[in-house]
Amino acid sequence: MPETFEIGLGNHDPDIRKKADSDFVSFWDGQARQLSWFSPWTETLDWNPPFARWFVGGKINASFNALDVHQLSKSSKPAILWEGENGESRVLTYGDLLAQVRKFASVLKSLGVKTGDRVTIYLPMVPELPIAMLACARIGAIHTVIFSGFNAASLKDRIGDSGSKVIVTADGGYRRGKIVRLKEVVDKAIRDLDFVKHVVVLERTKNGITLTSRDHLWHKLMHDASPSCDAEPLDSDHPLYILYTSGTTGRPKGVLHRTGGYLTHLYSTYKWAFDIRDSDIFFCTADIGWVTGHSYVVYAPLLHGATWVMYEGAPDFPDASRMWEILQKYGVTIFYTTPTALRMSMRFGDDIPDSFDLSALRLLGTVGEPINPGVWTWYFKTIGKERCPIVDTWWQTETGGMLISPLPGIETVPLKPGSGTCAIPGVDIGIVDKDGADAAPNTRGHLVVRTPWPGMLLTLWNDDKRYQDAYWSRYKGCYYSGDYALKDADGYLWLLGRADDVLKVAGHRIGTAELESCLVSHRSVAESAVCGVRDEARGEVIAAFVVLKQGIRKDHGLEDELLGKVRSDIGAFAAPKQIYFVSKLPKTRSGKIMRRLLKAVVNGAQTGDVSTLEDDTAVTEVQTAFDEIKKSMNQD
Ligand code: ATP
Ligand code: MG
Repeated sequence: MPETFEIGLGNHDPDIRKKADSDFVSFWDGQARQLSWFSPWTETLDWNPPFARWFVGGKINASFNALDVHQLSKSSKPAILWEGENGESRVLTYGDLLAQVRKFASVLKSLGVKTGDRVTIYLPMVPELPIAMLACARIGAIHTVIFSGFNAASLKDRIGDSGSKVIVTADGGYRRGKIVRLKEVVDKAIRDLDFVKHVVVLERTKNGITLTSRDHLWHKLMHDASPSCDAEPLDSDHPLYILYTSGTTGRPKGVLHRTGGYLTHLYSTYKWAFDIRDSDIFFCTADIGWVTGHSYVVYAPLLHGATWVMYEGAPDFPDASRMWEILQKYGVTIFYTTPTALRMSMRFGDDIPDSFDLSALRLLGTVGEPINPGVWTWYFKTIGKERCPIVDTWWQTETGGMLISPLPGIETVPLKPGSGTCAIPGVDIGIVDKDGADAAPNTRGHLVVRTPWPGMLLTLWNDDKRYQDAYWSRYKGCYYSGDYALKDADGYLWLLGRADDVLKVAGHRIGTAELESCLVSHRSVAESAVCGVRDEARGEVIAAFVVLKQGIRKDHGLEDELLGKVRSDIGAFAAPKQIYFVSKLPKTRSGKIMRRLLKAVVNGAQTGDVSTLEDDTAVTEVQTAFDEIKKSMNQD
């Protein structure tokens, strides 16, 4: 039985679960009423599987709910506390933000942008990024933010797919102390895209750019722009944005999100999971180029009139103390990050976080990958000093917001390290076997969602068929997540990794997360990734890639210890056939391990779409480690 932790925040609202269980549609109807609508809806849900319409007939605007609604009480309250990678800082109040958003919305209109048009935003993490998003939302344009680390080919694909006539970019952005020349990337990407009519360029790094006839400088347009621009009343299902997924499992998908349902989902989950209060300082480390950035950096905090920290650079730049330094500087009370970032910090030991004053913290969150129980416990003890609940939030680009998480804002549920606890109210999650029947307790199965939820995607952009095939064809009437999970005897949910990555060894199926958590719980291991290798005799055997903590050297003794640990913690069948020691793992630019790449290397297969890969040298290193071992085996 794992250790459990009960951390109460004194909030109890048992009615929420009761209401949600009795009728999820009227439950979400009640939640939606907390937002500001221009006109009410006539039907709460129109469910024509796999297409859902939420709050049909209602008129709403995201920018109005994020900004205008706060002007009477909070116009001088800071919305964004921005920290530049080079130490610069800026504070934007709710009043400032609305003024800038109105002006940029006027700019977009003057460039001919109309309701339903797509606008590609390719900006670094500067306040103009949320300003541009909210300006689009204000006039009903669909924003499509592309992470500023992408190269020209990836950008071109995404601009081509969305058909954006206007691009918003910057001369450059800072990344790990260097200037990334974004405008040049855009020039290359749109060279043959004649439908792109205008490029708006923010001067961030002043690195000297050449302007063409379709380019306009941000500050010049803003100088001449009208300061007034009312928020457009839009249909509840009006598309708010297109966002391409991380590409961990294959070609990225253009996920299309709506307005009313999405905002309802964010408003409720932000309050339930983070227990947000007026005095909080919230810091989510995600880049706005990913869904966590859209939902819980930009929209959810603004809906609540919260103050949030926005950081421009990498969390470990110039060194592993940067995150903790920001927490101390701004007195962060709620911190939301990824298991990858936490494992990176753990690698350098406790002295670094211990040297900062993190006493303002009251709640911690994690998202993006399964969190290894050992990493969870470190986060809880070393960072939260056993005072702060940890909300391990499971969700996807497609789900819009969290679907599984502890909810200290409404209830106290004992926490188990490594489990996201239960589904949020109003969402019916199932763990099912291959035929769709409920998996028995403690048995692995596929995670599905049985009822529509307000934050769910509308469809995939221009690809209803792929939407249907990818999510709705495997189990009738259920949303297929592609993740592998189990429910324990207490009803707690445990995420076990991607179904595509599942290991099938000697008739046993094993999730990657279980095996990786076992390896990571060894005192010398910082990170690990496992994958299956085809084997003539046994069907599949396991390969493990291991990154060691700083200052630890690989040797045969360590390899034996790791194998012994897997045998004793899980079973002999799960022992990797080969352990490869590497200094880094291939990850997506959102920090997720790309196991399909490891699988391709060890099986000698094609690597597929790697446009979202963070660092090519990680693949070279994996390939070299593999080749060396293969060579030494051939010599034996
Ligand atoms: P693609 O769909 O293009 O392969 P992706 O799935 O990595 O990319 P995202 O939508 O950013 O793109 O990530 C969602 C996935 O991240 C989930 O399906 C799950 O595998 C993983 N995930 C997110 N949060 C958690 C969590 N708290 N615990 C376990 N896994 C998580
Ligand atoms: Mg996915």
